[in-house]
Amino acid sequence: MNTVRPPEGARTAAGGGGVPRPATAVIGAGWAGIAAAVAAQQADDAVTLFEAARRPGGRARALPATLPDGREILLDNGQHILIGAYADTLALMRTVGVDPATALLRQPLSLRHADGGGLALPPWPAPLDLLAGIATARGWDWRDKL
Ligand SMILES: Cc1cc2nc3c(=O)[nH]c(=O)nc-3n(C[C@H](O)[C@H](O)[C@H](O)COP(=O)(O)OP(=O)(O)OC[C@H]3O[C@@H](n4cnc5c(N)ncnc54)[C@H](O)[C@@H]3O)c2cc1C
Repeated sequence: MNTVRPPEGARTAAGGGGVPRPATAVIGAGWAGIAAAVAAQQADDAVTLFEAARRPGGRARALPATLPDGREILLDNGQHILIGAYADTLALMRTVGVDPATALLRQPLSLRHADGGGLALPPWPAPLDLLAGIATARGWDWRDKL
């Protein structure tokens, strides 16, 4: 079991003579656990984050792998689609110092199937993009579009 403990010198749950900090244990260092740990730390709790795997990240962690030709690569299991409506995820990224504007490739939503059907939004401002995307969606009849 791996643990992420408060930095050396930080006030502990037992306190340094003042008001003791609440001790918070978070199980699992995926998106949810890390979000909880950040929120608890912002509330000045003494947080210990427990993770069963060898590295944090949960299902969104990156994994080292070797290609058949011997090249070492990092398989990025993380969010391939992170829509703008993920407001809390984007806010968490900013909180921990990741700028979504530079870390992510921003593109209009496209959920096309292999046969060309499905939804693809034009690069227009909301909600015009969604209205146009639904109006032109292939394979949807008018009842689906309403
Ligand atoms: C290949 C892949 C592609 C994906 N693509 C997208 C995408 O494009 N867009 C999107 O929105 N989502 C995507 N997802 C889903 C997204 O990654 C998950 O919804 C998200 O990572 C889940 O986070 P979580 O913290 O809820 O759970 P998890 O990531 O599962 O984290 C739980 C953590 O808790 C640990 N744990 C469990 N039990 C214990 C225990 N008893 N003690 C200690 N630790 C424990 C686990 O090891 C794990 O690290 C994808 C997932 C995968 C696998």
